[in-house]
Amino acid sequence: MSETYEEKAARLDAADGLAAYRAKFALDEETVYLDGNSLGALPAHVPARMAEVITREWGELRIRSWDESGWWTAPERIGDRIAPIVGAAAGQIVVGDSTSVNVFKAVVAGARLAGEGRDEILVDATTFPTDGYIAESAARLTGHRVVPVDPEDIAGAAGSRTALALVNHVDYRTGRLRDLPGTTAALHAAGALAVWDLCHSAGALPVGLDAHGVDLAVGCTYKYLNGGPGSPAYLYVAERHQAAFDSPLPGWNSHADPFAMTPGYRAAEGALRGRVGTPDILSMLALESALDVWDGVRIEDVRAKSLALTDFFLECVRAYVPGGRVTPVTPEAHAERGSQVALACPDAPAVMAELIGRGVVGDLRRPDVLRFGFTPLYVGFADAERAARILAEVLEKPAG
Ligand SMILES: *Cc1c(COP(=O)(O)O)cnc(C)c1O
Repeated sequence: MSETYEEKAARLDAADGLAAYRAKFALDEETVYLDGNSLGALPAHVPARMAEVITREWGELRIRSWDESGWWTAPERIGDRIAPIVGAAAGQIVVGDSTSVNVFKAVVAGARLAGEGRDEILVDATTFPTDGYIAESAARLTGHRVVPVDPEDIAGAAGSRTALALVNHVDYRTGRLRDLPGTTAALHAAGALAVWDLCHSAGALPVGLDAHGVDLAVGCTYKYLNGGPGSPAYLYVAERHQAAFDSPLPGWNSHADPFAMTPGYRAAEGALRGRVGTPDILSMLALESALDVWDGVRIEDVRAKSLALTDFFLECVRAYVPGGRVTPVTPEAHAERGSQVALACPDAPAVMAELIGRGVVGDLRRPDVLRFGFTPLYVGFADAERAARILAEVLEKPAG
């Protein structure tokens, strides 16, 4: 008799070199958590570290902690922790503010970096909404015009009037992975800058910011980087652009000598030009602590497991789910797949509510997309099999 999917899952879990990492997270065995692409799970050691931060660093050392506990330099220090995960050398990433705010910094500063006569900003037409809203306002402020473009068509759309393109590396809805190297090269060939949003790729797959010559990038840390709800985002400014990077939010934290408290602004050198005001230390230090789970992890191994997990989940869905009840909208081709599987399903809201009730936590993107995010550091093959099996049960007997 051939192997069942449950047996195959057990075999794949036994051979999984990342399986031991699951124990580093606060997860229960009753739940299959497939929403780490919205809010990553809590690394189990973070509460004790936060208790120390609050009790000792804030409660006892108080103001001294800005120096003695390393609070002041946390934004660039944590940036350097994220750097290897996204393929950046140290000194190019600063952590702080939300992704939305960093999109604003990147688009305005990118528009200012672009040469004269470049009055168009290409924006991913399928973008997560906030990027589009912010880019539109940034364009109005800088006298540019937003041109929505399908990320697959950027090579053709970029020309002598293009200042920059703002593109999502992985589509939040479909899980489609965009061609970062090819798109970046096409933009450069047109004399334009490439600005990438890494929210759905950082921590799930190799990004290669330096290797592919990306100009500016932003991303959040509460998805695959598990930094906690609303944990601060980051901004990457390639070293070659730092001297000319002109932030639209030049707060005192990005001043060359912040404590001189001078009326005139003089930008600091390097990545910390991307800082604005006083960092949100509690969230930031929770993120820093959460990043400990990456010690010794190779992002290539994470990617290999992510593809194996999503392949296996799709295989189980095909085998278990009654024909035609769901349609995968995530590409089959590995080169076009992020770390989630999105399934179109006519009664998606009721189906997802029922799934969550049965301990399979994914999420819904209206009107009809069921999203299942696979975080390779804590999701296993048995989870994928169980999720597909329960999905099939729910679809056979729809709720309500
Ligand atoms: C999650 C996500 C955001 C979130 O932005 P916030 O400012 O943190 O709310 C932005 N862009 C993309 C592509 C995302 O996936």
